[in-house]
Amino acid sequence: MRLSTQRVPDNPKFGSPSDFKRAIADLKKTFVQDGVISTDVHDLEAHGFSTMDYHPATPHTVVVYPKSTEDVVKVVKIATKYRMPVIPYSGATSLEGHFRGHPVGGICVDLNYMNKILEIHEDDSDLVCQAGAGWMDINETLKQKGIPLFFPIDPGPGASLGGMLSTGCSGTNAVRYGTAKGEWFINATVVLPSGEVIKTKRRSRKSAAGFDTTKLFIGAEGTLGIVTEVTIRLAPVLPTTVAVVHFPDVGSATAASIEAIKQGAGIQCVELLDAIAMKATNNYGMSTRKWPEKDSLIFKFQGSSESSLKETAKIVQRVVAKHGGTGFVLAKNAKEADDLWADRKNLYHSGLSLVEGARGLTTDVCVPVSRLPDLIHETKKDLEKVGLVTSIVGHVGDGNFHALLLFKTDEELAIAQQAAARIVHRAIALDGTCTGEHGVGIGKRKYLIEELGAGTVDLMKTVKRAIDPLGIFNPGKLYPDPIHANKFQPQ
Ligand SMILES: Cc1cc2nc3c(=O)[nH]c(=O)nc-3n(C[C@H](O)[C@H](O)[C@H](O)COP(=O)(O)OP(=O)(O)OC[C@H]3O[C@@H](n4cnc5c(N)ncnc54)[C@H](O)[C@@H]3O)c2cc1C
Repeated sequence: MRLSTQRVPDNPKFGSPSDFKRAIADLKKTFVQDGVISTDVHDLEAHGFSTMDYHPATPHTVVVYPKSTEDVVKVVKIATKYRMPVIPYSGATSLEGHFRGHPVGGICVDLNYMNKILEIHEDDSDLVCQAGAGWMDINETLKQKGIPLFFPIDPGPGASLGGMLSTGCSGTNAVRYGTAKGEWFINATVVLPSGEVIKTKRRSRKSAAGFDTTKLFIGAEGTLGIVTEVTIRLAPVLPTTVAVVHFPDVGSATAASIEAIKQGAGIQCVELLDAIAMKATNNYGMSTRKWPEKDSLIFKFQGSSESSLKETAKIVQRVVAKHGGTGFVLAKNAKEADDLWADRKNLYHSGLSLVEGARGLTTDVCVPVSRLPDLIHETKKDLEKVGLVTSIVGHVGDGNFHALLLFKTDEELAIAQQAAARIVHRAIALDGTCTGEHGVGIGKRKYLIEELGAGTVDLMKTVKRAIDPLGIFNPGKLYPDPIHANKFQPQ
């Protein structure tokens, strides 16, 4: 098998420290109004680091807050002139070191002032907004305006459309609505490394005009350009409710979820919480209930009427009972449904509460759903031996799960990282992926050749070189180095 040996692009040559000083002077001359350019030490650190991951990091050299696509073009032209790394930044909720500062420094382009909804087309079920608009704010605005539509892609709270498109994210709703890699982004306006502005497509729902250039930027993690505007598709808001059920083991819970989905009933989400995650929920103290500390599923049902929700609940209750499900609780009203679902939404923080003062490492593998019971079984056996407190929470309907490994010391972090690597190799061996939704960033680069093969990785690098020949867009992220090819020895 051929191993990828190409660099991305060949040995990028960044400017010198004095070039970067000249770049900052140019930025200050270009943007004379207050608050657009920041070299404040705290600002540089806050944008270059994240407490949510454990990758090496350096502060950026400067943070720029553009207000328009034209501003972004000006920034990109200055970055190109001085060969300065450019790191796009939106909601800052990504988990794999995606927006970390580069060792030579760089310009962090923070799109948070570009957060406006520009057009809402209720009859077309779509919306045009700037890339810094948050998915939760968009849904809240639609609700306030009485428009019965919503954007169903639901990653971390605080994520914005530019970052969501760039990570190819998803969330609990993916069972019903798919991911950012589906058809939820109708088009994107992008500032390319050349400074040229392109719009990938018009607003019509369908187009067969050439290949899908919107998709080129989905999952590109800011390495091919800066997205400044998007048109997104919206879905009708339908009545939902929530149910919880407990199982003797994770295998039965997973098998029940697979069979329930196959019934074609109105399931919007199905989430697995292992017994330790349930214990964490009790421990955390935010839940309105004390749960049995057993492996459990939380379902969100969706239907066009109350009676269709009840019908779905009946079908699912019958299926889960076949797999040993007990204690089936169906929310009696909207408030109770919100309370039950909040227990799922609080899981990261409740998981951390299991060990006082601990930090958490989260994994993100995904396999074909039929392989999930094997993967979780093997993973739990492995995690029992590592001597750390760990819990498993899964978007089980998609074959995607997150193990949360708690640690307090550097030695424990190393143990957690080794266990996380074993989970990745196990998932890839089951025809799965190192990342179901969080993306590659710095943390998953080393697995890409093993997962995708050298040819596919080389194709990605060829596209990167064509669009960003200077290699200044988010360098050090996404694409594996040749050293990773040497590490992966195919059987
Ligand atoms: C508590 C929590 C729960 C989470 N749950 C989920 C989940 O269920 N599903 C899921 O998929 N993820 C989840 N995540 C991860 C995260 O929310 C997603 O990766 C999200 O898509 C990141 O969006 P962001 O706006 O925060 O992007 P950022 O973190 O700001 O950036 C992400 C990447 O995109 C690039 N980028 C940002 N903006 C642009 C732009 N305008 N143009 C080009 N490139 C850009 C950045 O350079 C970076 O590489 C979770 C995170 C947290 C903290």
